[in-house]
Amino acid sequence: MNYRHVFHAGNHADVLKHLALLALCDTLTAKPAALFALDTHAGRGLYALDSNSAQRTGEAEGGIGRLMAEAPRHPAITRYLTAVRACRNEHGVAAYPGSPWLLAHALREQDRIAVCELQAEEAGVLESVFARDPRVAVHERDGYPAMKALLPPRIGETRYNRGLVLIDPPYEAQLDEFDTALSALRESLSRWPQATYVLWYPIKLRRSLQPFYRRAAALPAKSSLVAELQVRADDSPLRMNGSGLLILNPPWQLDQTLAGALPLLAKVLGEGPGAAGRLEWLVRAA
Ligand code: SAM
Repeated sequence: MNYRHVFHAGNHADVLKHLALLALCDTLTAKPAALFALDTHAGRGLYALDSNSAQRTGEAEGGIGRLMAEAPRHPAITRYLTAVRACRNEHGVAAYPGSPWLLAHALREQDRIAVCELQAEEAGVLESVFARDPRVAVHERDGYPAMKALLPPRIGETRYNRGLVLIDPPYEAQLDEFDTALSALRESLSRWPQATYVLWYPIKLRRSLQPFYRRAAALPAKSSLVAELQVRADDSPLRMNGSGLLILNPPWQLDQTLAGALPLLAKVLGEGPGAAGRLEWLVRAA
């Protein structure tokens, strides 16, 4: 595997994913019952945007860099920027939080978090980032079979009814990754049907996503939402023109939060004609 997330940390795709992840966690933690979160493709948890690798692509400049500078007024955007600032207060001005850090930041003492990462070096960093956080279990393993092994979540005598699963693969396998992720979602829904599942995907040519939308709509979830952010027209198969989140069983009003934030993100992070936010229910709860 060649993929290293540090080259992409803080780009427009991370902004969409991380903003939505925080909004989701905040909605779920509104109720006191303990939650379980599984991050199947965790990365290293914490990135240095002044590292050579991050500087080489400069992707963060067009993502978190621009958003920090313009800080459009919306509660979900403010929430996300506040979390990034909290990370920087702890780890330095060039730090950027990965999804495991944001989960640990947003969830509570009674909640538990499992993070999976296949690359030994990235998993080693995760171990050190969370060495003193007993809520977080780091697994150096393939995140897909881990969904089978860890769901439904049970730690000691505690069973977790509520929670979320984030699936954020690198798509090195291109279209095959959709097959793998959709099969894993189908299987996991049969084990832990009431959880919220979030699958991130890249947008290059929109029309090539049609089979994915059809198959996602056929999953046995009560409801299914897609939230997308395009930074330019989706007409080139060679570039990542945007990205999306398939959200199964989204909590109440998450759609409204994202509906308000997406146009502002598109305005600030857009790089030309075609920049837009899009929200669509594939399946609405009965
Ligand atoms: N979720 C992270 C975040 O938002 O900060 C970014 C994750 S990055 C897009 C994908 C990560 O998945 C990489 O660190 C890669 O090494 C790891 N990876 C790739 N295939 C994997 C697999 N089958 N199981 C677990 N991790 C995997």
